[in-house]
Amino acid sequence: MIRTNCPTDDELQAFGSGRLSSEAVDEVAQHVEECADCESRLGQFDDSADEFVAGLRGCAVSADDENDFAVPKSVAEAVDGVATLSRGGSGSSVSMDPGKRYARRLADGPVFVDRFELLAELGDGSFGYVFKARDTELDRVVALKVQRAGEMATDEDVARFLREARSVAQLSHSAIVSLYESGQTEDGVCYLVTEYVEGETLDNCDRGSSPNWREIARQVAELAEALDYAHTHGVVHRDIKPSNLMLDRDGRPHVMDFGLARRDTGDATLTSDGRIMGTPAYMSPEQARGDSHAVDARTDIYSLGVVLFEILTGERPFQGNRRMLILQVLDDEPRSPRQLDDTIPRDLETVCLKAMAKSPGRRYQSAKELAEDLRRFLNGEPVYARPVGNLERLWRWTCRYPLATSLFIALLIGSTAGFVHLSSLTKWFIHQTALDGARIDAAMLEIVFRFYSDALGNLETGTVNISHEYASQKGTLPLPATFTIDAGIRISESECGILVRLCSEHPWRKDAQKLTDFEQRALTTLSARAAKGESELFLHEFREEGDRQWLYLAKGQLMKKSCVDCHKKHPQSPRKDWQEGDLAGALILARPLDQDIIRTEDGLRGAFVLMGSVFAVPAGIGMIFVVNNRRRRRSGSSSR
Ligand code: ATP
Ligand code: MG
Repeated sequence: MIRTNCPTDDELQAFGSGRLSSEAVDEVAQHVEECADCESRLGQFDDSADEFVAGLRGCAVSADDENDFAVPKSVAEAVDGVATLSRGGSGSSVSMDPGKRYARRLADGPVFVDRFELLAELGDGSFGYVFKARDTELDRVVALKVQRAGEMATDEDVARFLREARSVAQLSHSAIVSLYESGQTEDGVCYLVTEYVEGETLDNCDRGSSPNWREIARQVAELAEALDYAHTHGVVHRDIKPSNLMLDRDGRPHVMDFGLARRDTGDATLTSDGRIMGTPAYMSPEQARGDSHAVDARTDIYSLGVVLFEILTGERPFQGNRRMLILQVLDDEPRSPRQLDDTIPRDLETVCLKAMAKSPGRRYQSAKELAEDLRRFLNGEPVYARPVGNLERLWRWTCRYPLATSLFIALLIGSTAGFVHLSSLTKWFIHQTALDGARIDAAMLEIVFRFYSDALGNLETGTVNISHEYASQKGTLPLPATFTIDAGIRISESECGILVRLCSEHPWRKDAQKLTDFEQRALTTLSARAAKGESELFLHEFREEGDRQWLYLAKGQLMKKSCVDCHKKHPQSPRKDWQEGDLAGALILARPLDQDIIRTEDGLRGAFVLMGSVFAVPAGIGMIFVVNNRRRRRSGSSSR
């Protein structure tokens, strides 16, 4: 956990002299890394401690210079003893750093570390100070790295350091900075001697405004070949980053610091070698997760992919403070380099993104494969890495914008469910309304039919002629059934759009139409129901005919006593054995649903527009939130 309040002077001094518990050290170290004030306060403690020891050393040296006396060994030992004491006795301090001491003394004249004469300070990193030095024995220029104080707490640590150094020393490749030797001074300062490269680290190279893509591909291919060489010799770098890659004066790349990344830590987010790491920007997802078992050659491939991304675009794929970087490395997909600069060749972008795949299984499986693909690009051949397809692109997008994706999925599921529900509701609504309407129509016709029958029944027998051929006979009234049939014909011919028909198994009139399927079915079903004494004699069906939808409704007509009597007497009756309550026929109503559907669809469309806007508002807010969040992350990182 990073502590937010600044440590007290006592705490800082204890931290500087290695007297804090390991837990507290991590907390203070992280805080100092983030807090410029505390860093400079810590520096003051270091300086005062350094000045004290340097002053003692100065006494000894000036005595030697001015009086030409040999420095008594006891004095030198005493000075070193004080130095050791100020390191907390065990060398576990960050103050009194030997590299820093050498760097200061260098200004006053030649400084020797064993047989190496320090010529100039080259820089410092997490391992310690780096000097350009001359090997007085072999008379060659070398780079000498002095291990930071406080790193080698025990003899075992020293032994492991030397063992690792020896294993890396086996590597001999033109693009790998050779480790010549490692050593330890009499006063316990560990150092490494490596090949000196005259040139610039990759993070200091100026590539101008129009980068040479081929040159970049060649350099990264050479680096990949060097990595492949190391991997095949069982050495994984684990800390590939621009400051560990140098370009010499001829533009040849070199990999430095093989074997220096700490191997035994599961907590890669805190330290690489006991101090806080510079940046996790080049860390692979497996390193960011602290999954040290999963770290293998493909980890270096990932980091080299990030380096390639940065050289191509001039930007790191992920930016922000350490915590944000780790989250992004774990969860976010990088932007595609061509989004930042569309002049980047597509194949180079494809190679870069493949090297940077989140899952090691999707990366190049060896640095050799990466180098070969870059060589193919250089030879104008198509690269093996395939650009991500639309589906994968979509998947990556969803990984980059999880909030927007969830909102979109919620919107999609919500609107689909709403659509399905509304559609079935609408269908039900249209059918129900049409059915109710048709039943009312049928009931009204029935009332008219009954009313007419009753009216006829009230007439005195013989006062008026009743016949189904009433139209051709003056002074004749239609039979009730004929009346209903003809009323139906007139309704059907009107503009109301409803078809009405009275049908029967025993039609009275000769011109009766043939029964349709529905009518046949209705008569059979309703007749059975009538025989059972049921009173609800309705049957309906919704049908699609061509591009029109219809409702067919049948209402059973039962024989009344007056009808039975009439049939018995009438010579032209189609059936003489009617009984009261028999199903005489059915009133059929056919109603088109076109208008109902059009009206409902209009209403539905309106509801969808409303629903869409209701969903679009949170989705829009979500998008703005995501975009702002990313912007904040970026501006956070650039202000650092
Ligand atoms: P880290 O310690 O995490 O690797 P770093 O790479 O920035 O961080 P160092 O490896 O200590 O730090 O290197 C510091 C600087 O010393 C480099 O930036 C480089 O300029 C210089 N340097 C290191 N090794 C050599 C070398 N073999 N030849 C020439 N210059 C070197
Ligand atoms: Mg380095």
